Amino acid sequence: MLIDSHAHLDLPQFNKDREAVIDRAFADVDKGGGGLTAIITIGIDLNSSKKAVEISNQNTEANQKIERNSDIYAVVGVHPHDAKTVTKNTLDGIKELSNNKKVVGIGETGLDLFRKLSPVDRQYKAFYDFLDLSGEVELPVVIHDREANAEVLKVLTERRGSYTPGIIHCFSGDWEHAKKCLDLDFYISIPGVVTFPKAKELHDVVKRLPSNKILFETDAPFLAPVPFRGKRNEPAYVRHTAMAAAEIRGDFPEKLMEAAALNTLKAFRIDLFD
Ligand SMILES: [Zn+2]
Ligand SMILES: [Zn+2]
Repeated sequence: MLIDSHAHLDLPQFNKDREAVIDRAFADVDKGGGGLTAIITIGIDLNSSKKAVEISNQNTEANQKIERNSDIYAVVGVHPHDAKTVTKNTLDGIKELSNNKKVVGIGETGLDLFRKLSPVDRQYKAFYDFLDLSGEVELPVVIHDREANAEVLKVLTERRGSYTPGIIHCFSGDWEHAKKCLDLDFYISIPGVVTFPKAKELHDVVKRLPSNKILFETDAPFLAPVPFRGKRNEPAYVRHTAMAAAEIRGDFPEKLMEAAALNTLKAFRIDLFD
């Protein structure tokens, strides 16, 4: 078992070959595929969230035709970069989407103090709104934190009880920070950055994370792991991320992949046999 806990399959980078990318992800490893069990595709604004839901529903239909079990699930929300687009209408739209059977989480939401593509006050406002929504609809929240460890942690601590804890995606920060996230009942998702030789802080976190709290992700089309660094990322490549983590931890790769996959199912409350 292997799951990509965070990809953006709806983005234009996949417009030319989306189906081939999905087929490669689910194809067996000995046939050159990623051997994935599931992909969680994440919306970045209302329109993208709609597409994420469509893609997950289309996959269910396709599966019925070709007797494939590997499935795609959607998370709906607005990325901090797009926080400036959030209106009452957006929140209503995301809430409505969250009723769909294939929607397993709310996000991604949080703070991005690195690029600040939306004003910081709008990022906070949207973050609060989506935390509230995750509590209201009882779906786990997917957190984006870039250059905002302390700020995100402060919000998650202050608002504890009002949201449904979920996943800190593309984890960045040291082990002390990771421990605080674990204390708030979050799972921690490890990106392809772990394959970069210089990512010592992340290597340390990966070494120490309990095996029942670790997830793997691509964040495709971004952040491709070695040996694809700098190229377009895709869900099949999550295997390279898991392999690197297994080596750092001294775990058997297949065993770690299975543990992380089960964690992902648990984090998103997915029942594969539904
Ligand atoms: Zn993100
Ligand atoms: Zn993302």
